[in-house]
Amino acid sequence: MKVHSGARVAVAGAGALGSAAALRLARAGFAVTVFDPAPLGANASGVAAGMLAPVSEALFDPASRDHLPLMRRARDLWPAFAEALGLEIVRAGVRIEGSRAWRDQVGSRLNDLGLSADEAIAEDWRIESRLALEALRAAAAAAGARFEATTVESFAPGALRLADGRTEAFDVLVLATGPGARDGRLAPETRALAPIKGQILRTAALDADQMVVRGEGVYLAPGKTLAVGATMETGRDDLAPDASATQALRAAARALRPDLDLDRAQVEVGVRVTTPDGLPLVGWSRAPGVLLAVGARRNGWLLAPLVADMVAAYLNGDNPGPDAAAMRARRFEEPEGDKQERAGE
Ligand SMILES: Cc1cc2nc3c(=O)[nH]c(=O)nc-3n(C[C@H](O)[C@H](O)[C@H](O)COP(=O)(O)OP(=O)(O)OC[C@H]3O[C@@H](n4cnc5c(N)ncnc54)[C@H](O)[C@@H]3O)c2cc1C
Repeated sequence: MKVHSGARVAVAGAGALGSAAALRLARAGFAVTVFDPAPLGANASGVAAGMLAPVSEALFDPASRDHLPLMRRARDLWPAFAEALGLEIVRAGVRIEGSRAWRDQVGSRLNDLGLSADEAIAEDWRIESRLALEALRAAAAAAGARFEATTVESFAPGALRLADGRTEAFDVLVLATGPGARDGRLAPETRALAPIKGQILRTAALDADQMVVRGEGVYLAPGKTLAVGATMETGRDDLAPDASATQALRAAARALRPDLDLDRAQVEVGVRVTTPDGLPLVGWSRAPGVLLAVGARRNGWLLAPLVADMVAAYLNGDNPGPDAAAMRARRFEEPEGDKQERAGE
């Protein structure tokens, strides 16, 4: 489905995916309004450690093991994306630390991925996620996008209903609601999404080391503060800090850095949302006029430029690229035989 240029596009959700899509679409000449009731950064995108880490994710998240080439393609879009936003990418890489036995295990997993078992991963980068959200919002606004602090309740082409009682005429709804809309009302495909609560500790760094450290059951990601992450609490979507869930994380961090002051660390909570295969839903929904950009699991920042490009391609009627079939929005609803045929939708 190609949408006429200048069409009115509503984006539900101002996280990494919604904001990146809004910027891309505003620059492409669509009339974009982003709706989100939450303050900037009060979502998983604002809590995230900001790692752009294809290799680490393929190593440490079983759901991402098969997605290394796709994640590398997404990462490779970042230099131009960040430059246009004036955003710094920190390329200090990742160091593996821990017991000999564990490092050996990681080494053999690296070998399985076709990589050498060096103890540093140079090709994983990071950004400051809150700065990125601010930069995206400013750039999207400068390109003409409007931002409104309200919830999208329902959509049909020509009639977007908002929680503040208004109904407005939009041609398309880009659904980038993170864990916020999983009941199928805005798009039936969202029923395939499951939440994963993540708690992360933020504390002062002990030194000026810029490398991310990956240890057994924990990462230490430097930045404005040191991020010690993160819990993976499958099936939970509440935002309550929960000391019992962070106990293992604290113990793993202390094993690496006994001097870290974790008792006074700030706990931040975000909810990721995942599909059964770990890749987001990107593309046209069965619901008329709804384009999905949701379900990025642990990789919303890594995937944001790629997803934004794909969203723009779908709206412009262009080829959405080599990753469109793997992320196709309706892949959990249809019999196997239909998938190939619809890959270019
Ligand atoms: C602890 C933690 C660490 C992470 N670390 C990393 C990392 O290092 N690198 C990485 O790439 N990813 C990381 N992630 C994952 C990443 O944060 C997510 O994949 C990403 O933020 C998803 O972005 P999003 O835009 O899809 O959703 P979100 O950031 O969840 O934003 C969705 C927005 O939609 C809004 N919304 C919901 N419903 C509606 C509605 N009906 N109408 C309007 N608005 C609505 C919400 O208010 C919210 O602001 C981490 C996540 C967590 C929790």
